[in-house]
Amino acid sequence: MKIEKIEIRYLESKLDKSFAWSQRWTDIRNLIVIKVFTDDGIIGWGETFGSQENVKAISTILKLSIGEDPRKFGMIWNKLYRATFQGHVYAKSAVYAISALDTALLDIVGQYENKSASDILGGKIRETIPVYATGLYYVDDYAFKPLIEEAEMHASNGYKGMKMKIGALTLKEDAHRVKEVKRAIGDDVRLMFDANEAYDPITAVKFADMVSDTDLEWFEEPCASRDNIANRYVKDNSMIPISGGESLSTRWDFASRLSDSIFDIIQPDICAVGGPSEMVKIGIMAQSLGVKFFPHFWGSGISFSAALHSISVQPLSQIGMQDIPYENESVLECDKTPHPIRENLTNDIFTHNDSRVEVPTSPGLGIQVDETVLSKFTIGSVTVVDKPSDGQRVF
Ligand SMILES: [Mg+2]
Repeated sequence: MKIEKIEIRYLESKLDKSFAWSQRWTDIRNLIVIKVFTDDGIIGWGETFGSQENVKAISTILKLSIGEDPRKFGMIWNKLYRATFQGHVYAKSAVYAISALDTALLDIVGQYENKSASDILGGKIRETIPVYATGLYYVDDYAFKPLIEEAEMHASNGYKGMKMKIGALTLKEDAHRVKEVKRAIGDDVRLMFDANEAYDPITAVKFADMVSDTDLEWFEEPCASRDNIANRYVKDNSMIPISGGESLSTRWDFASRLSDSIFDIIQPDICAVGGPSEMVKIGIMAQSLGVKFFPHFWGSGISFSAALHSISVQPLSQIGMQDIPYENESVLECDKTPHPIRENLTNDIFTHNDSRVEVPTSPGLGIQVDETVLSKFTIGSVTVVDKPSDGQRVF
């Protein structure tokens, strides 16, 4: 079996209403989807982040996989990584390309072997993955009422945890919002809050102090995720565990942060970290070092399925009689903000029961992509890669 052709599409959808986090307002959702064709007719799907401008760079990198056997996905990962290493592997296009391709190859190999992606990764340890709802962004000019209504909706829909945004308003205003959301959802639903890198360490600790009389699960990205000194300061001075790492890539971005105890919880995203292969390695590293592993998610059903499979093969962080989400079992983010692409591109694998989602069981990723929806949201032309690299360094 050989990789014959890859199609790369940039997808974007406009929202009726903008929403915001600490850094900006937006009214679009977007992602990049790749479709990998093999010479024996099996097709695999992969997904990553990026804009239309990333597509050209991604296509150049993906040429390196044309003609390779998808079953050698570990070798292919290394080939692309090595080819882009000394130049700009940490520039996002390289790791975006690797992440999407690794996902698609797992999808292909699973279908070829008639096994699920998790079986290809070593076999599921659990059939369902606990999820929490992400939402509670700033909307309607920072209105308070919709925030509480949304929190009550997630709780009444059965979510046992949810995450809200902070960092765009004054500390006092945001602290009030955190406490009021927690009051609205009650003691049995966990609440996390995310500053999206908005604070300096002193301000972050001050905020943590202001809400520390409330039962809160974690404080996400208090400071820039790459600022180890700032995050370590917050970790050492906050009563609330801190998390980060959604924008970090590969085991090497995480290794020193794990060994130096920069975060209590790490949150790699399968679209940015290097795909399922890398996600599994980093999960094992985190759990070996006593750091919680609660992956980030912000895409479509393609990357959500890849994340479910990757987490399903992870052992518990501590061995006990039962799996207890947040305590000894990893939880996965489940984006509930408006996203017409996510809501329509694949069959619905987001349906939770008791705040848990079933790991798909059919071969590969176990998802179906609706190609009408794919075309509807594609912006610009489809980029086709069907010739191998000429051997020249691409970056
Ligand atoms: Mg976040």
